[in-house]
Amino acid sequence: MNAASGRPGESSSATRRWVLWGALVVLVAALLVTLVWLAGRYEAGRLQDRIERDAVEVVADIRGGMTRNVQSLQALPRFDPQHSDPWTLRAGALLRARREMLRIELRDARMQLQAAVDSDLRAAVFDAPQREQLASEVEAACQQARSARGPIYATSPFRVAVNGQRQQLLELCLPLGGAGETYLVVTYALGEILNEMVAEPFARAYDVAFSDLDGTRVAFHGVTRSGNRTFSAQIGLDLPGYALVLRLDSWRGTPALFPNFLTAMVVAMAIGLVVVLVFLGRDMRRRLRAEHELAEALAFRKAMEDSLVTGLRARDLDGRTTYVNPAFCQMVGFSAQELIQAGTAVPYWPAEQYDEYQERLQSRLQGRQPPREGFESVFVRKDGSRFPVLIIEAPLINAQGTQTGWMTAFLDISEQRRIEEMSRASRERLQATARLATIGEMASLLSHELNQPLAAIASYANGSINMLHNALPAAASPRGGDAAVLPPEETRLVEEGLHHIADQAQRAGKIIKSVHDFVRRRERLREVVPVRDLFDAILPLIELQARKVGVRCHVRAPHDLPSLLCDRTMVEQVLLNLARNAMQAMDQVSHAQRQLVLQARRAPSSERTAHAQGWLELSVTDTGTGIPPEVSEKLFTPFFTTKDEGMGLGLSLCRTVVEQHGGFLAYGPNQPQGMVFRFTLPLAPVSAAAAADPGVAGEAAGAAALATP
Ligand code: ADP
Repeated sequence: MNAASGRPGESSSATRRWVLWGALVVLVAALLVTLVWLAGRYEAGRLQDRIERDAVEVVADIRGGMTRNVQSLQALPRFDPQHSDPWTLRAGALLRARREMLRIELRDARMQLQAAVDSDLRAAVFDAPQREQLASEVEAACQQARSARGPIYATSPFRVAVNGQRQQLLELCLPLGGAGETYLVVTYALGEILNEMVAEPFARAYDVAFSDLDGTRVAFHGVTRSGNRTFSAQIGLDLPGYALVLRLDSWRGTPALFPNFLTAMVVAMAIGLVVVLVFLGRDMRRRLRAEHELAEALAFRKAMEDSLVTGLRARDLDGRTTYVNPAFCQMVGFSAQELIQAGTAVPYWPAEQYDEYQERLQSRLQGRQPPREGFESVFVRKDGSRFPVLIIEAPLINAQGTQTGWMTAFLDISEQRRIEEMSRASRERLQATARLATIGEMASLLSHELNQPLAAIASYANGSINMLHNALPAAASPRGGDAAVLPPEETRLVEEGLHHIADQAQRAGKIIKSVHDFVRRRERLREVVPVRDLFDAILPLIELQARKVGVRCHVRAPHDLPSLLCDRTMVEQVLLNLARNAMQAMDQVSHAQRQLVLQARRAPSSERTAHAQGWLELSVTDTGTGIPPEVSEKLFTPFFTTKDEGMGLGLSLCRTVVEQHGGFLAYGPNQPQGMVFRFTLPLAPVSAAAAADPGVAGEAAGAAALATP
C-alpha cells in the first residue's frame, strides 16, 4: 500500500487541488476567449462606425455636388433664340466641367424643346424619338417643380450606355424664373454621379452603389473584389422628388490574424497569462513536492519521538512547557495537554522539593549550564507515586542560531535502581551465606570439641553423685563418728544440683549433636513426643530467665492433645528461641504487663491438610513492643538483628526447622500489645503414638523413634 492510498485525507486534498487548478485554467481560457471576442467586437463596431460616418460624408458630398450643379445651372445666361451662342457655350462648358451631367435642355412652359446641349465628352444619350417617350416623366417633374418653385428630380426608365456601362438616368427639372416660363431639364447618369462625386479615398476604400427604395441596385462604382463583404452602410439620399439609397461596402481579402493593436495586445497578454500559469503550475508542483517531503520528514520525526522510551520536554525561555513526547506523558501520568496548559507550574515536582527545583529552573533560565552528564532527581506521578529520573538538559537553538528555550531528556531510572538494589541484596545474601557456611564449620568444630568436656562434666557429675551416695552411709554410721560433712538436707540439694548438671550436660550434648546433624544435613531422627513433654523440657530454662526479667509465664496445653512427630531437640530449640525473643521484646514495657504465653492446640483442619494425621499449632505470645514494619520486612533475613549482642540467626533457623517438618511459621500482632509467633508441626500417626504412650504401651516408649527422610 503506498502512502497516498493509505491516507484518504491526502487523496481527497489532491483531488481538490486538481479541481481548483482545472477551474483556474478553464476560467483563464474563458476570460481570454471573451477578451479576444470583445476586442473583435469592438474593432468591428469601430469599423462599422467609420463606414457609417463615411457614408454620411459621401451622401453629403453628393448632395452638395448636386446643389452646386443646380446653382451653376441657374447661373447660365438667359437664352436668346436669336442669339443662342452664349447659352450654348456656357452650357457646353458646364457639361465638360461636371461630367455626371449628360445633357442640358431648355424647354418652354409647354414642354417644347427650345435648345439642348449634349456633353461633347460622350456620345449623345438620346435620339429624338427616344427623348419624346420620356416627355411625360419630365413633364410631371416640371409640374412639381413649378409648384415647388425649385428643382425636382425624376427617374427615367431608360438605361443608356455611358463609358461602356449601361446606366440608369436621372432627370432634373429646374424652373427658371422670369417673364416667359421656361425649364432647364438636365439628364444625369447615376453611375457617373458616383464616379465624379465620391471623393477619391472613399472610392478606393469602398464599393459604392445606389439602389432604389425597394433594394434594386441602380448604379455601382468600384471593382468587384473577392473575399467576404464584412461591413456595409446604407443611407438615404433624398433629392427633391426622388429618393435613393446609397450603400457602402467594405471588403476584406483574407481574414487578418491581428486585425488591430487591441486584439494583438489581448492575445499577447493571454499568451503571457498562459506562460505565467505554466510557471505557476511548475512552481506549485515543486512546492507540493517539498511539502510532501516535509510531511514525510515530520512524520518520520514524530514516529521517532513516539517510539522513544526517553521522555522529551521542551521549555521556552520563560520556563513554560511547550512540548512533551508520549514517553514523558507515560512517565509522569499527565497528558500532553495538561502539561502544556499548566504553563510554568510543574505538576510532577514533589511538593516538599518544589522550592529547590524552582531554584534549579531559575538558575537554568539565567543561563547557567547544566552538567553535561545529567543529574538525578525525583518526580511524582499523577497517582502520587515517586520515581527517580536522570535528567539531561541542553539549550534549544533555532535555525537562526539563537536560543529559544531548553530541551530536556528524561530517563526513568527506577528499574535501574531496583536492579542495583537487587544486586546489593544478592551480594549481601552471598556474604550471609558465606558467613553461614563459616558458622556451620564452627558449629561442627565446636560440637566435636565440646562433646569431650560435656561428657567429662556429665561423668564428673555422676561420679560426684555416686561419691555422695557412698559417703552418706559412712557419715551416718556410728563408726564414722563425729563429723557428718553435710547435714542430710543440704546433701540432698547438692545431689539434686549434681543431677541437674548431669542432665544439662547431656542436653547440651544432644543439642550439639542435633546442630551437628542439622549443619551436616544428616537424616534426623523424628520421634513421637507428647506436647507437654516438650514444654516440660524447656520450662525450667525459660522460667530461670523469666524470673530474672520479671515475666509471668503461662503454659496452655490441654492434656488430651495428641503427640507430635518431630526432631525433639530442634523443636525445643525453636520454642526456646521464640520464648527468649519474646522476653527480650518485653524489656521496655512495665513489669505488670510482662506476660509470656506458650500455647498448643490442634490446628484448624483447613490448614495444611496435606498431612493425613493433622497438625498441631504451637504459639509463643508476648506483650512486648511489637515489630515495626521496617523490621518486619527483614525479620527472617540471616544476621538481621536489632539487638546489640544479637546474632540475627534465631528466627531464620526457627523457620528452617519448622519448614523441614513440613509446617509453617507465621507471626502477627497480639491484642492489645506484643506479638504472636505460631508454627505448625505434624501429629504422630495414631498407631505410633499409641505405641509411644507409656500409659498404653508401657515399655515401648523409648523404641518409638522413627526415622523420616
Ligand atoms: P536475634 O534475636 O539474635 O536478634 P532473631 O532472628 O531471633 O535474632 O530476631 C531478629 C529480630 O527480630 C530481633 O532483633 C528483634 O528485633 C525482632 N524480634 C524477634 N522476635 C520478636 C518479638 N517477639 N517481639 C519484637 N521483636 C522481635
